[in-house]
Amino acid sequence: DAVLNYFEQKCQRSKQLAARTAEVIPGGVQHNLAFNYPFPIAADRCDGAHLWDVDGNQYIDFLQAGGPTLLGSNYAPVRKKVHELLDHCGPVTGLFHEYEVKLAELIRQYMPNIEMFRMLGSGTEGVMGAIRLARAYTNKKWIIKIGGAYHGWSDQMVYGMRLPGTGRREAIGIPSGSTAYTQECFPNDLDALRRKLWLNKLRGGTAAVIVEPLGPESGTRPIYEDYNRQVRALCDEFGALLIFDEVVTGFRIGMGGAQGYFNVRPDLTVFGKCLTGGYLMAGGIGGRKDVMMLLAGGIGSTSKRAFVGGTLSANPLSCVAGYHAIAEMARTNAAVVAGRAGDRLCKGLSEIVDRLGLPYVVYNQGSIVHLQTSAVLLMSMRNPIKLMKEVNARKHMMEEMGAAYMAHGLVTLAGSRIYTSMADTDAIIDEALNRFETVLR
Ligand code: PLP
Repeated sequence: DAVLNYFEQKCQRSKQLAARTAEVIPGGVQHNLAFNYPFPIAADRCDGAHLWDVDGNQYIDFLQAGGPTLLGSNYAPVRKKVHELLDHCGPVTGLFHEYEVKLAELIRQYMPNIEMFRMLGSGTEGVMGAIRLARAYTNKKWIIKIGGAYHGWSDQMVYGMRLPGTGRREAIGIPSGSTAYTQECFPNDLDALRRKLWLNKLRGGTAAVIVEPLGPESGTRPIYEDYNRQVRALCDEFGALLIFDEVVTGFRIGMGGAQGYFNVRPDLTVFGKCLTGGYLMAGGIGGRKDVMMLLAGGIGSTSKRAFVGGTLSANPLSCVAGYHAIAEMARTNAAVVAGRAGDRLCKGLSEIVDRLGLPYVVYNQGSIVHLQTSAVLLMSMRNPIKLMKEVNARKHMMEEMGAAYMAHGLVTLAGSRIYTSMADTDAIIDEALNRFETVLR
């Protein structure tokens, strides 16, 4: 009741807007992470670690737009560069811009595996392109993903998400043929991965294994430390490409991404989110030159190529934002600073959960903090299908917890994931811990 009272009393303008949006926008929200319980909260502005809604309520923002704003929201030095380019050039030309080169060179400076880079519009597009490239390069068709991983919303990649009421797929409207060559292995199960690679060898071969290098769903289902290295070895043995989906981890886990952190070389890497520091379209593919060259083209090109497109891809605005966001992340050591905030928050939350005797597991990978019920974590074990109902019930409970956090001035990702940013000072984290403790009590 206290939570619902908060929304009724303090969020009237949001409520009025929500009534209008529900008429013209399916479900009332468009962003897939937008909060909508008991109704969507409309944002008015954000700055650093804070966000204000249209009713003037201030929140500590641990959603950070779903991860891109490692530097903190609305970071002034990048905003200034974006404004300058906008005034000078406008957002888009369709030709080529110097910032495209500068961005690709800067990425290669921090991630030497990214010998070449192609800018696209989103992480989803990056994954689609990487898969197409892998198939074109290897001339094989099977793609193996890891159970529970999110690689965007393309037909072939929502395979196996198994959310409530949806059977084997999250979304209806996907003909079974679209996922015919997508397979899934449980995280950490290297035997199953080997078996699939073997079987596929007899029927056309595996083009690529795609992993989120922290474990599925941004580390919600954690993997063993050596897992990525072992997957790399299996890919080499079977002639499959290894794709790292670094949409979440790229620059957030460190300037070298998860590939630097684990010291594992993927053949292809998918980027998104932090790539443009939260500005505009963020997606891209990078990797081995011999593979990436299959994207070579443009009007007049006659080379054989794997086609990717995008009217607004690689627009000057995204590229200038990307270049300066990455340069600022390096200059300020943003991943380390935000990681320290993540450590402090994780330690504090663990103490609260222990003190209150709650069945949560709290852990972090730098600036990504997870507050999970134990049942969700069991998903990382082998084949606990029968636990799915339990897991989903608890996921729903976590979303309700998300509303309770919101009513206490904390925005989280569905009540169970927290992104810290460089703007999170010790004082902000300590204030957040007080609020978390109130809710958890
Ligand atoms: N891959 C991962 C690991 C993601 O977390 C996401 C989005 O959250 C995507 C791909 C899709 O990226 P986008 O939302 O930019 O299409």
